[in-house]
Amino acid sequence: MITRIEKSKAQQRAAEMMRQAGIQIGDHEIDLIEVVDFGLSHLETEGVQVFTMVSTQRIAAKVLVLFPNQTEPEHWHPQVGDDPGKQETVRHIWGDLRFYVAGDDNMKEGFIAQDKESAYTLRHERVLKPGDQLTFEPYEKHWFQAGPRGAVLYSFSTTVRDGLDGFTDPDIQRITVVKDED
Ligand code: ZN
Repeated sequence: MITRIEKSKAQQRAAEMMRQAGIQIGDHEIDLIEVVDFGLSHLETEGVQVFTMVSTQRIAAKVLVLFPNQTEPEHWHPQVGDDPGKQETVRHIWGDLRFYVAGDDNMKEGFIAQDKESAYTLRHERVLKPGDQLTFEPYEKHWFQAGPRGAVLYSFSTTVRDGLDGFTDPDIQRITVVKDED
């Protein structure tokens, strides 16, 4: 759960970071940035901001913004009906970014959110530089985290069905609830 104010602040901040990264976004589009807390209600720790440039029945192109030290939880993109599952390429544009993928534990720069050891099983760290990119096949688990400056990256993929993604953390709900202030 996030509040309406928290959402609009996060949208503004994400738009500023996009512009700093050299990616244009119109003032009228800031409202469209999705603020995702994964139902965990601590956006700054685990969360992501998503600006969708295009999303059709076949393809999607998005800008993902992570605030400083914010983590996108471990997940994978499963098969849905006839669709073999989302194939995704991420390309780092700006800031400090590391990905965690299958492989030996070489974790050095990153950290696991407090009391979340079991929600993050992958410990093979890939520190990306702007211009680096990675491709994930359906079911290939991954999670990622920003360093001290935050990070801005592109995500290009086949059809997006965020609501059906799998997450290691059983407490996650992909659809963020926005609450009006009382
Ligand atoms: Zn993914």
